[in-house]
Amino acid sequence: MTDTIDRITVAPIPARHWTELGRNAYTPEGLGETRTEWLIRACTTSGAEGITNARHTVAAEGGSVTRLVADLREVFLGRPVNSLLRFSNGHAVAAGSEVRQALSSWGWMDILAVDLVSRSRGQSIAALLGERRRDRIPAYESTTYFQDLLHPQRGLAEVIGHARRGFAHGFRQFKIKVGRGGRAMTPTAGLRRDIDVVLGIRDALGPDVDLMVDANFGYDHQPDNLADFIRETSPARLTWLEEMITASVEGYRTLRELQAAHCPETLLVAGEVDGNPPSGAFVDLIEQQLIDGYQPDIVRIGLLRWTQLEGRLAEKSILPIPHNFGNGRFGLIAGLALATSLDSWVSLEDERIRPNVYADDELTLVNGAYRAPDGPGLGIRVDDDAYARIGAPNEVVIRT
Ligand SMILES: [Mg+2]
Repeated sequence: MTDTIDRITVAPIPARHWTELGRNAYTPEGLGETRTEWLIRACTTSGAEGITNARHTVAAEGGSVTRLVADLREVFLGRPVNSLLRFSNGHAVAAGSEVRQALSSWGWMDILAVDLVSRSRGQSIAALLGERRRDRIPAYESTTYFQDLLHPQRGLAEVIGHARRGFAHGFRQFKIKVGRGGRAMTPTAGLRRDIDVVLGIRDALGPDVDLMVDANFGYDHQPDNLADFIRETSPARLTWLEEMITASVEGYRTLRELQAAHCPETLLVAGEVDGNPPSGAFVDLIEQQLIDGYQPDIVRIGLLRWTQLEGRLAEKSILPIPHNFGNGRFGLIAGLALATSLDSWVSLEDERIRPNVYADDELTLVNGAYRAPDGPGLGIRVDDDAYARIGAPNEVVIRT
């Protein structure tokens, strides 16, 4: 009998960071502590259940729960699971023809389709897409925002204390938000604080942790400060410089020269703003190898799209380093599945959302890494008791 999707639920799930986050270079205020996952559970006539986080549709311009329900009805409800994906040599290689447009527009739909198909076949996502590439997934702490501005009386010490707590929680890789001189402080004071934060965290955590920085374009239109930042933080041996400036060939040529002169081992990475990868300036940055790592978002792009992108990046020796901030607890789950599937991998962005609605007790960071999931599908299911408390009271149920 054909396995068909016959019941879908939609529910908003609170997703709380481990602590309150400050602002970054472009947010006008701090990020606070709580975000929202829009959990989709799609069930089939054989009893398989696929999950995803559809927050991009709800948060999009013109987005709403009504729009989300209409999209789910049109794309998934009543559809046979075996029509969702196209296979070649036993592996899923693309979306099925009837859902191709939808799955390439919405990465969360791509993930739901991949999860449903792999669960209904009893396979892991890595096996569905190719093969299991690794057993451990290194992850980086990605919540070191402008904590100093959240608690100005403690200033620099507050940011360093934040990173120290992350180290105590098991992280060995840390990404630090910089770019204070764009909008959060004066350019001169912001530059000084950025440098002090980077050198201070290196001093506090020692030589063996990996440190990255992300400026969210906070060094745009400040060429002298950009050069000073790169020169003065070179003793910290940063693993990567992320979005120091807005993507352009001219800007990245300058950045490449600075990197070559002061920190040749440090990677230049960007791409989280690319919603249709690769597009715009990123086509040229990839072709001309002006970046070393490319960062479209995992849930915005989807798993099929990411595996398709990987080959194109490999031709240019550019590493996949996907963005995964804002995707909630689900983002960690989806990110681990993607990380297990891709040929090359650097590190998974961890925004450190507390356990909420998933039966994910085994998601424990050990010595800076998570265990790669075994499946079936994403390898994690929704916890029924938790869902009854925090999901069911707000859910919409869609049936055939
Ligand atoms: Mg970023």
